[in-house]
Amino acid sequence: MGLPAQGHAPAEELRVSCTRRAAGPTAPTALLAEAWEQFYLDVTRATAAARALAASGDTLEPWGWWHLAFARVRGSEPSAAAPALARAERGFAAAGDTRGLQLVQETEAIRLRREGRSSEALALQESVERGADGTRTAIDLFIAHNSRAITYRELGRVDDALRQFHAAHDAAEASGNPGARITALANLGGCHLDLYNLDDAREMSERAFAAARSAPSPSNLIVIATNLIVLHYAHGEPRRAREMAEFLVRHPEELPPNGLERGRTAIALGHLATGEIEQAIAWLERGTKGPMGDLEGVTFWTWLRTRCALAEGDAAGARALAEATLAERARKGLGDGPFDLMQLHRALADACERLGDAPAALACMRRAQELYEQLVGRSARARHVALQIGFDLARAQRERDLAVDSRRAAEADRQRLADLNAALERQIAENDKLHQQLVEQALRDPLTGLHNRRFLFEAAPGMIERARRQEEPLTVALLDLDHFKLLNDTYGHQAGDTVLKRFAALLTQTVRRSDVVCRHGGEEFVMLMSGLDGADTHAVLERMLEEFQRASGEFAGRRRLPSCSFSAGIAIFPTHGATLEQLLSRADRALYRAKQQGRSRIEQVPGTSFATLP
Ligand code: GH3
Ligand code: MG
Ligand code: MG
Repeated sequence: MGLPAQGHAPAEELRVSCTRRAAGPTAPTALLAEAWEQFYLDVTRATAAARALAASGDTLEPWGWWHLAFARVRGSEPSAAAPALARAERGFAAAGDTRGLQLVQETEAIRLRREGRSSEALALQESVERGADGTRTAIDLFIAHNSRAITYRELGRVDDALRQFHAAHDAAEASGNPGARITALANLGGCHLDLYNLDDAREMSERAFAAARSAPSPSNLIVIATNLIVLHYAHGEPRRAREMAEFLVRHPEELPPNGLERGRTAIALGHLATGEIEQAIAWLERGTKGPMGDLEGVTFWTWLRTRCALAEGDAAGARALAEATLAERARKGLGDGPFDLMQLHRALADACERLGDAPAALACMRRAQELYEQLVGRSARARHVALQIGFDLARAQRERDLAVDSRRAAEADRQRLADLNAALERQIAENDKLHQQLVEQALRDPLTGLHNRRFLFEAAPGMIERARRQEEPLTVALLDLDHFKLLNDTYGHQAGDTVLKRFAALLTQTVRRSDVVCRHGGEEFVMLMSGLDGADTHAVLERMLEEFQRASGEFAGRRRLPSCSFSAGIAIFPTHGATLEQLLSRADRALYRAKQQGRSRIEQVPGTSFATLP
């Protein structure tokens, strides 16, 4: 995340095309129309029209200078806009064009912000707003609100930024200007993403994506597409994240010249999401400039690189990488979003855990949880603001209606109130759903879709308590795939992932709905089954082992794999322990014995007989 809003266009689009030659001189009004039409779509074309207009000697000439200045101020060298802006100002002043003079001030404010002087920019924007004389058109309002929103965002005032992005969107819709509409929608989607309001962010970004493709608008398209990759991933839809990455790679002609470079980290996320580690690494390592060179998105990059290192079994490397970035971040005060930071802490927690450093893992997990809670809070606030804007809009309309016809307005009032209530209820329900989804995501393993160890520890006490009350046995089975490292080394990590997923599916088919099956980590799985005694459990696992050995040869699609097996250790409540920890530890000893005795077998806790169970 941390992708910039479209306040400015990439520099290369500012180069004036010399190859386009008009058949004859174009009328000044047509040139001005072209400049307005293209100014947020294709800066090269807008600039060419502006130049011709500035040189036309027509009364519209100051508008040519203003468009030229506006394009420059949004380019790579905002200070280069000064001469053109001064000429526009002189022309507007001479003609008494107050609308033009207000736009000159707005442009000056953008220049200040782009030079890092955001507080001065805001002061100027507020003074333009106070002095506004009613000559501003919808497109002027779009420029003012969009620009103010970006200023607020840079000053860290996210709620104000969101309000302004909404206002910019309304103005852009009213203007009918295609570039403004796409930019407004893209920026609004990006702002909701920053606020972790994923549903709204995705809905807006998808609309913006379709509009940017058909316009076309390359510089908007790359920003929207990279946002969508993150959004699909955060929604728990890795396939769609991967498809969007694929879209970027397949359609470079729809992107700006450096599009793939700008999208490389997001493309890597698309691959990582679907377990394509090698491709993810290739995209992350692409390009000459290391991530520390450009501070933008460092945390995002490191989160992905750490996950890749973990997937490759290099926990020490993963830990070093994550810790280095966190230290760097602390030193430089990087401004990446909390979503990336939360993911990085989770990855670091996994690395520490694999290295056996439980205290460090726990500290990282806590920090990740704090960030998660912060994000959920932000998301709720974003929804609140969006709702409030809806309310304000409805109230303004209601007041207008009242003035026209009080009786009809009263009727409309009731209806609108009912609609607003319904909308509010929908929003609350959606919010609950989002929250549920987030909670669920935190309890699942993304590769296999099974529950994770955190879920196991949350669910087990209740199941043990129930078993105690009903005086029933509760089985804890610990399963570990045999020689799995060898399989990875011989057939590749992807084949390994496929086997893990198929094994997970087999586990899910085997247990009852009331039982629990989870990925304990790596190639280890845990089953909690109620009501089975030792002999029953043995029989269930034996059948599963046979089925796994029979079916695993077909797992890798085109390539055949050797038959795979697992070993399992079993412990049963209450005979072998009273808590999950005790039962797991006993099952682990049994598993160790199964491994020592040649693998591909199921062992009970040493020294006990299942026949003695109640
Ligand atoms: P044993 O029979 O003694 O259990 O041997 P093993 O090779 O299965 O055990 P070992 O602990 O040496 O190796 C486990 C391997 O599992 C190493 C690691 O790369 C692999 N692994 C862990 N998680 C994943 C994963 O998500 N995907 C893939 N493909 N491999 C994984
Ligand atoms: Mg193993
Ligand atoms: Mg293992």
